[in-house]
Amino acid sequence: MSAVFQFSARSVLLGLSLSRYRLLLTTSQQCNIGILQQKKYSHKRNFSKDSPRLSTWDISSEKCAEVSLDLLQEGRLVEVSWPDNSVSRFHSVWLRHNCHCSLCKQKYSGQILIDSSSIDPQSVLDNINVLDSCVELSWRGKEIHKGVIPLSWLKDNCYSESSRIKESQERNISPFVGNIPQVSFKDISNSEDSLFSFLSSTNDLGIVIVTDVPSESKSVSKIAELIAPIQNTIYSMIFDVVSKPQPINVAYSTAKIPFHMDLVYYESPPGLQLLHCLRFDPEVEGGENMFIDSFQAAKLFQEEFPHHFDSLVRIPASFQKIHYDRDWPVHMKYKRPHITLNPQGQVIGVFWAPPFEAPLQVAEEDVQPYYDAYHKFSQFLHECNLQVEYKLKVGECVLFNNRRILHARKEFILNGGTRYFQGCYINIDEFKSKVEFMMVQRKTGKHAKRVGNQCFL
Ligand SMILES: [Zn+2]
Repeated sequence: MSAVFQFSARSVLLGLSLSRYRLLLTTSQQCNIGILQQKKYSHKRNFSKDSPRLSTWDISSEKCAEVSLDLLQEGRLVEVSWPDNSVSRFHSVWLRHNCHCSLCKQKYSGQILIDSSSIDPQSVLDNINVLDSCVELSWRGKEIHKGVIPLSWLKDNCYSESSRIKESQERNISPFVGNIPQVSFKDISNSEDSLFSFLSSTNDLGIVIVTDVPSESKSVSKIAELIAPIQNTIYSMIFDVVSKPQPINVAYSTAKIPFHMDLVYYESPPGLQLLHCLRFDPEVEGGENMFIDSFQAAKLFQEEFPHHFDSLVRIPASFQKIHYDRDWPVHMKYKRPHITLNPQGQVIGVFWAPPFEAPLQVAEEDVQPYYDAYHKFSQFLHECNLQVEYKLKVGECVLFNNRRILHARKEFILNGGTRYFQGCYINIDEFKSKVEFMMVQRKTGKHAKRVGNQCFL
């Protein structure tokens, strides 16, 4: 059975706001979003191509059986008490911005249609009708509007402190300190469960090795295609890491390369890096790869050297790639601090690439503090025990988050042999999107973890 209750601002003023209104919702009820426009909106529990509104709070569950609402502060605030005993509070203006009616939101794209400048930020609610699994709302003020929002959507988008803390904790990553997990190419190609487990590990630890990859040129793209489109860069879709007489990048030589991230001079450096070992002849000496979790290193560095840490957050470094004598002449410069924090002080970005540094351009009084901090962190990366060494074997592909796991390479001597890798990149947001989608698809109720794309979440 369904019950419809009316709440009015007048009743709040009459002192009725302390009353709780019990709303009984049955599992099969549909949200009649278009009631004001005589159109039906249906909650889709399962996935389909035209279901952009995915709820992690399952409206069909029995926990949705009872929800109670209060209209408070003369219509400026709605308090919702959920069956799990949690409480959400939504501001009238927030609700107005998130109206789901067909005038405000496009049904299939889920995109906002309304011109937000027409919304009165001081508008208050004077009426709430609950019908089935939706709340109907009436705003008054300079703009009068009647709209509707699904209860499940409100639950999913609650912004209470406890909800925000919970989500933030869910996004915490595990430090990468030990062995690199391995998965078989065959497994992740044939099983969605294996693919999900592989992507979750990559998201959490930042690095995974795929084994049994066919030793054919461009096989690396077959792994990428399981995740997202390859990200094209100045090094092409697929690049060959093999020593050449006049390399356009130090990677294309036999030289030692210190810990760095690739393409740091881009506004959005590549997210995942894939390196597939096609040949590594036994006579080649050296050439091992080294990896380090820059987020964990930054965290430990902050504990030990807080003053230097603050300098790396505050003073911007400069990075560059200037090279004209190549197929695509390149002139890129980018200035930003080595470490970025969110408002809670959590590390959300680390940019470290000594081979691609440009001359420092900062205020005179910042030069010495910058170099003091820079050398301390550089030393810290080499002396902390977070480094992991791995020598790739033919048929293996290492896949790591270039925004988080710094990589290095030991010098090598060919001795007449060949060391040949092929690599490609995947955009970090597209990788995160894949993880997030698979989590919702599997109804895990979880979120993708931080990926180092400087998102505040
Ligand atoms: Zn609306």
